[in-house]
Amino acid sequence: MLEKLQEIMWRVTAAGDLNEALEIVVRRVKAAMNTDVCSVYVRDPASHYVLMATEGLNPSVVGKIRMAAHEGIVGLVTRRQAPVNLANAAEHPSYRHFPESGEQQLSGFLAVPLVHFRQSMGVLVVQQKSQRVFAKDEVAFLSTIGAQLAATLSYAALGSHIPPSAPGPTGPVGLIQGLPGAPGVTIGTIVLPSPLAELDAVANRIPDDVAQEEASFRCAVRKTQEELRASAERMQGRLSDETRAIFDVYILILGQDDLVEEVVARIRLGNWAPGALRDTISEHARVFEQADDVYLRARAEDIRAIGRRILLQLLSNVTAIKQYPSNAILLGDEVSLARVADVPSGQLKGIVCLRGSVVSHTSILARGLGIPAVMGLGARNVSSLDGHPIIVDGYRGRVFIDPLPAAIQEYRRLVQHEGQLSVKLTGLRDLEATTTDEVHVGLGLNVGLLTDMDVAANLGVDEVGLYRSEFPFMTRETFPMEEEQYEIYRKVLQSFAPKPVTMRTLDIGGDKPLPYFSTTEENPYLGWRGIRVTLDRPDIFQPQLRAMLRANVGLNNLRIMFPMIGRIGEIKAARQAVDRARRELGEAGFECPAPLIGAMLEVPSALFSIPTLSRYVDFFSIGSNDLTQYLLAVDRNNPSVAPLFNHLDPAVLRALHRAIRDARRCGKPASVCGEMAADPGSAILLLGMGLRTFSMNASALLRIKWLIRSFSSQRARQVLYRAMLMEDAETVRNLLNEELRWAGLGELVPP
Ligand code: PEP
Ligand code: MG
Repeated sequence: MLEKLQEIMWRVTAAGDLNEALEIVVRRVKAAMNTDVCSVYVRDPASHYVLMATEGLNPSVVGKIRMAAHEGIVGLVTRRQAPVNLANAAEHPSYRHFPESGEQQLSGFLAVPLVHFRQSMGVLVVQQKSQRVFAKDEVAFLSTIGAQLAATLSYAALGSHIPPSAPGPTGPVGLIQGLPGAPGVTIGTIVLPSPLAELDAVANRIPDDVAQEEASFRCAVRKTQEELRASAERMQGRLSDETRAIFDVYILILGQDDLVEEVVARIRLGNWAPGALRDTISEHARVFEQADDVYLRARAEDIRAIGRRILLQLLSNVTAIKQYPSNAILLGDEVSLARVADVPSGQLKGIVCLRGSVVSHTSILARGLGIPAVMGLGARNVSSLDGHPIIVDGYRGRVFIDPLPAAIQEYRRLVQHEGQLSVKLTGLRDLEATTTDEVHVGLGLNVGLLTDMDVAANLGVDEVGLYRSEFPFMTRETFPMEEEQYEIYRKVLQSFAPKPVTMRTLDIGGDKPLPYFSTTEENPYLGWRGIRVTLDRPDIFQPQLRAMLRANVGLNNLRIMFPMIGRIGEIKAARQAVDRARRELGEAGFECPAPLIGAMLEVPSALFSIPTLSRYVDFFSIGSNDLTQYLLAVDRNNPSVAPLFNHLDPAVLRALHRAIRDARRCGKPASVCGEMAADPGSAILLLGMGLRTFSMNASALLRIKWLIRSFSSQRARQVLYRAMLMEDAETVRNLLNEELRWAGLGELVPP
């Protein structure tokens, strides 16, 4: 049974489209369970259950038999959300007979609901002419198939497969939830990678001339290297040197003898170059794919991207010249830098990846280019989607494929609004962030890449509230040397001097592993992360601290902040590490001023230790992203629990309120640098809590300034007290939206 189950599931996953998946299910389940009929009913946008595939009933009724949720045994299954197992269905009071289906003498009946994330997607039914009560393991079998099918149904673009019972369904069609990669919304046209370059589609072939085959492979490698260099040059000016370093990574991988020589060895064993390349690339990629950490898995994307480019060279001997639409959205398993570079400047509007997360190179790249990106949509067949319209919502990490006119209209309005809003907001650039009752609020920026500095220079901010120092570490193949770090930090400090820059020491682990510093952990978020790593590894920590301290000489605008502080011992040890670095630099002749020292409040235990921590720090910064994750026990990067991750949860609000109050009582300034500070609704609450410094990404800055200039701190306090008494995040969100509208800030209300 298990083998049959696995085979059916595998075939469903590999199906070209939804109809094919349904056909596979009904055919194979009927055979596996030895029944007379197997059928699937799928819920349409009007909540009717439509017969979408059958093996055993009259095929002409497919798409025609349709039941409301209160009708038939199918309706009963969806209402109960539990299997129904009947020896003789015709005797059941809910039974409904459809003579046109040909189901004359069907008695035995087993149906399981198809449920995905609490949503009823349909019903899977098997029927038998004779009376038959299905055994427990048969019910389990059908339920397991049903669970897989429900996920497939939820991912499929429902509206394009199911005839609606009534015209004009208004819900979004083909909504797929992924992970936010880069902020922004856009509507565009899907561009898939060149179909020629699909490695998995290559078949084996015996080469006519092995020597010739080897020569053409080596030539293809050379051409690919040249092409990558040319792409890197084309990106000059569009990306920082730092981000363009990813091209060097590709060129480096290609230069590695083992990859090239392994392909050659396979050619010599008697396969043609594309076949040898396919096997070598998939072997290398598999090693990375099996890694536990996200970053290493992302390197498998790089290997496959390179493989496709070589294949393209091999098959065509010329680079495919592709015509791009003016609003291209690159969609793929992964989207390589080289693909991005191929799109003429100004025509690339967004990126969507089936794999990856916010730490993938692609996300970093999209943020650098200022275009929205959605990551981690999950494995699905997208091969028929080239040229299809798509909406990319980088704020919420979701896309709509083949959206309904209503969704397009809605997002068009949003895009237009975003445009108008940004024009309106530009006027605020040089104005103070002061509330209507004259409370001044400091606005800081969160930065990571050197490209962020160019954007920041034009925004008139008070400080850099968070410099994520791990970013330069993430775009390299090895730890950057102290000197290299010094150069980067110096540029950052210089470009903001005399305004303060809060540099956070390396925060790796969890969702931010480094490719060259891999650790395998069962539960990385609760493992070796942030300050725990750097304290354990003075060989990494000391060079970073020295580079920061040296970069500060003559500028004196550096503040150092430590991530993931959860114990007093950690902050004491971190301070000592700074003292040691300063002392050693002093001995070497560098007189480094003492920077202010801060701790991030993002581990719940730190929130309850503020008075003690205050003895060792000059300031606090609240990391609301991790704090929400740890308080609510919800993985911040897991799409399955994404709806549960909400910084407006009243428990989170109470914790924040207390932290801000405690810091104030201890006389230590506190800011918020997590995403919460960038959310206009939440910003009302933070203002009400007495927060006077907000730090956020550049894209949110002027919106928050607008909010602060339109609101009074007094009203914010009243809103806060109401919110903290509420029961859940949704009610709080409604309250905040009302407040935004009341203040004339309706445009800031999330769509
Ligand atoms: C946070 O956790 O809120 C934060 C700002 O840090 P990061 O998102 O880099 O973990
Ligand atoms: Mg954090």
